Amino acid sequence: MSTFFNSCYKDLVPYTPGEQPQGRTYIKLNTNESPFPPSPAVIEAVNGEEAKLLRLYSDPTLGPLKKALAERYDVSPENVYVCNGSDEAINFGFMAWGEDGIRFADITYGFYSVIAGLHHVRTEVMPLAEDFSIRKEDYLNAGCMVVIANPNAPTGKVISLAEIEEICASNKDHVVLIDEAYVDFGGETAIPLTKKYPNLVVAQTFSKSRSLAGARVGYAIGNEALINDLETIKYSTNPYNVNRISMAAAVAAVKSRDYYRKNCDIIMENRAYTTEALRKLGFTVIDSKSNFVFAMHPEKDGGELYRELKENGILVRHFDSERICQYNRITIGTKEQMETLIETVSRLI
Ligand SMILES: *Cc1c(COP(=O)(O)O)cnc(C)c1O
Repeated sequence: MSTFFNSCYKDLVPYTPGEQPQGRTYIKLNTNESPFPPSPAVIEAVNGEEAKLLRLYSDPTLGPLKKALAERYDVSPENVYVCNGSDEAINFGFMAWGEDGIRFADITYGFYSVIAGLHHVRTEVMPLAEDFSIRKEDYLNAGCMVVIANPNAPTGKVISLAEIEEICASNKDHVVLIDEAYVDFGGETAIPLTKKYPNLVVAQTFSKSRSLAGARVGYAIGNEALINDLETIKYSTNPYNVNRISMAAAVAAVKSRDYYRKNCDIIMENRAYTTEALRKLGFTVIDSKSNFVFAMHPEKDGGELYRELKENGILVRHFDSERICQYNRITIGTKEQMETLIETVSRLI
């Protein structure tokens, strides 16, 4: 940190992204990317005329993408905010609605506490139940903003829409943000509830199920007034928040529904295979509705397994925090990758 660094950021602890190795090629099961390429229509959209237009600024209204998403999710374009990865919607959402603080789980997406720290927002951290489920009671009448990842990361566990409804109904004076980065792998979206609850915002991303992590596109859906709040912050920071190429890719992706549905189905099959195979090897594996599984072996240290897998060319994600340091989060890849993982793990334990 330089001596010039603004002292208001001196306590900031930045997020540590999963490794993106540039040298050696690993079987990369550490950042929940898709093992499949984007759809043929996406490849076509980014190879074509769009590149010639890069001399021009991108469309700050992101109209074509809002329209495509509105049709896909049966809402109006005014209910859609498009962002530079859904992390941006979370960031702007905390700025917009976090005045009274933000409540979230002790084991969840690590970015929430980082963003809260950045904006000096007070946090209320609620421990998950012993089995890592989200306790609905902890989020009723919170008196502050609530954010819940559903499915949760890194556990892969879900909370029901009925419980989300109760949480929204009991927090009428505060925003409830549901982060659905993994919803396409067997979860149920709360988007339809945004019509009933003007305090509910749902964030989704193109990074996981739509194979576009590198394009950086996400979106939030909710009541028009809430979407306008996000737009106000966007136009006060970076009006051109999504570049041309990424918007063209995302529009094509929304329209490639069958292609991505099939890929998600394959991931879910491979998840079932991986869960069963790890359990046969003695692992505790949490039932996951995401494109990863969270697993631990009673006789093998989590950090050690992470390091040994890495030496064997397989990257998974390990977190040091106390409650989960015996676990590893393993992204679901192709069947072949998962077979290699299982074979390697069985040698290491
Ligand atoms: C991956 C992820 C996101 C956001 O990803 P972007 O690439 O910024 O769209 C948000 N929430 C959770 C829980 C995630 O795992």
